[in-house]
Amino acid sequence: MNAPLPQRLARLIRQDVQGMHAYAVQPSIGLVKLDAMENPHRLSPQLQRELGERLGAVALNRYPGERIDTLKQALARHAGMPEGFSLMLGNGSDEIISLIAMACDVPGASILAPMPGFVMYAMSAQLQGLKFIPVDLTPDFELDERAMLSAIEQHQPSIVYLAYPNNPTANLWDDAVVEKIVQAAPGLVVIDEAYQPFASRTYADRITRHDHVLLMRTMSKFGLAGVRIGYMIGRSALVAQIDKVRPPYNVSVLNCEAALFALEHAKVFEDQAAELRRQRGLLLERLSKLPGVKAWRSDANMILVRVPDATQAFEGMKGRGVLVKNVSRMHPLLAQCLRLTVGTAEENAQQLKALQESL
Ligand code: PMP
Repeated sequence: MNAPLPQRLARLIRQDVQGMHAYAVQPSIGLVKLDAMENPHRLSPQLQRELGERLGAVALNRYPGERIDTLKQALARHAGMPEGFSLMLGNGSDEIISLIAMACDVPGASILAPMPGFVMYAMSAQLQGLKFIPVDLTPDFELDERAMLSAIEQHQPSIVYLAYPNNPTANLWDDAVVEKIVQAAPGLVVIDEAYQPFASRTYADRITRHDHVLLMRTMSKFGLAGVRIGYMIGRSALVAQIDKVRPPYNVSVLNCEAALFALEHAKVFEDQAAELRRQRGLLLERLSKLPGVKAWRSDANMILVRVPDATQAFEGMKGRGVLVKNVSRMHPLLAQCLRLTVGTAEENAQQLKALQESL
């Protein structure tokens, strides 16, 4: 609980903010950290040295300038951005989600997303004072086509978020249903491809068909979670409007240089993603053999599992040195569920053993 604020200060802070909890990052010192879909691989010592030299040469006395444009161009090439489209950078895609809500804050505006889903969609709505409309997935975590289309019809949301693949369920949506949602949506549709490096499909090749679709991606799951670079691609006229609410210089020169460096060595990160996809297959196979455990297939670097008692399994794993995420209280559909991150072969063996011993 927060310490109480003196009355004269408490009246300055929004009531709803006082009732909120800050985004909690679980303490992880000394634990095998498999709670946040991070890439488990560090840069090689050689690349670390090279990056150190690059960062050492950056002019820190100047505000971020033309290197930001260079990064935008490099990301546009990396993502295969078509003609007539523009790219906006964010301090992680978390910031982009906030900026979209800010730009779309017109009276009566609302944000709709399937749930369980990524928490920031609801949080951006709440903080901006927009209505949030959650639409439950089916019990096997597919989009509920009828429920989605009728909620869109009823609420006419300004923004629909579709995480592709979804967090924490790790699945991709049925493309025909996505297409119907995109066509029915009266406002923006944001396709959030945070987990694209691990997914078997992308929506990117279809963005040209619709002028109200935005594609959002991040360098975080590529291997740079600490660097905080997210980006959004859409029709230039639309992106230009949202870009107006972006704080100037929201991306640091150091982040920018590190991201450019990573893109120059994209093969290293792409090979790591391929290895993690292989590890995901092995982990899933072993999980599905554990009695009492249900593991869902995954298009991301996480696997959702249902266990007999999530709290017992979570605490048991932690006691054995492995930190995962207990998502069982996030949504009724996630009852007794844990979200595992796919790590290295060694980490996965540890998490499997810890889970098995904690059931
Ligand atoms: N979208 C989804 C679906 C996510 O799961 C996450 C982070 N876990 C993000 C966006 C935010 O990523 P970042 O701010 O690190 O770019």
